[in-house]
Amino acid sequence: MIGNFNGKVVLVTGGSTGIGAAVARAFAREGASVALNYNSSESEAGSVRDAITESNGVAEIFKADVSNPEAVGRLIADVVSRFGKLDIVVCNAGGLVGRVGLTDIADDFYAQVMDLNVRSVVATCAAAIPHLVETKGNVVVTGSVAAQLGGGPGASLYAASKAAVQNLIKTYAKEYAKDGVRFNAVSPGTISTLFHQKHTKPEVLDTIKGSIPMKRLGTPEDCAGAYLFLACDDLAGYITGQTIEVNGGQFMP
Ligand code: NAD
Repeated sequence: MIGNFNGKVVLVTGGSTGIGAAVARAFAREGASVALNYNSSESEAGSVRDAITESNGVAEIFKADVSNPEAVGRLIADVVSRFGKLDIVVCNAGGLVGRVGLTDIADDFYAQVMDLNVRSVVATCAAAIPHLVETKGNVVVTGSVAAQLGGGPGASLYAASKAAVQNLIKTYAKEYAKDGVRFNAVSPGTISTLFHQKHTKPEVLDTIKGSIPMKRLGTPEDCAGAYLFLACDDLAGYITGQTIEVNGGQFMP
């Protein structure tokens, strides 16, 4: 056991696939009840829930488009109504949306990337904070190594959006420390998920792999421990406003 999450209620956004699914499974394994958010991947979300419940864990799935603040408000209310409280929120849903060159960024693309990666975190925190103040809970957001390195080809806005959320958690951390609510981030490097299956050519991934000191891409499971650590008050109760890099040595701040 990494921490004692028995009796804790954890919401993981974008929990149906990739890093979010691994994080959801890890919290469930550690005794938490998991609210698994998905938007379009209902069958994948159902599979993660079923795997958790078949291992005697507790998980339920909640549909919501996190880029829509009204939907996020309903999501938080539904989770609290179902489980009675909220202890930990993992703001993980996010993505590249597409690769678009710097001079080709149209307004709707700008809005899509920023809404998915930044507005989602702002809306989720706004709706969740009153509940987290009650439970002295915490938030872990998924950042990216791109926040520090800048974006790869066509990923400028995505990188900037992740820099925004890694910065935002610092202000939340300062403002809510007095209420006992912590805010941290995990910044994955290059992780093998749908994210790269959709947007990165295999030969580009091979080149990236060769540049990583550990000579392999990360897995979603490689990332999960950092979320558990940051969310665990016994282990990380004096850590707030921080980002942990999980990247096989790809970037060392
Ligand atoms: P992924 O595509 O498997 O996960 C993204 C998840 O977000 C999916 O489950 C997707 O359905 C969900 N999602 C997308 N739009 C949504 C919306 N509007 N509402 C609710 N859910 C939505 O890929 P992943 O790599 O596991 O990505 C998870 C997070 O990690 C993302 O925030 C991503 O930006 C970040 N990240 C990934 C990498 C990587 O190399 N894979 C690196 C750094 C950061």
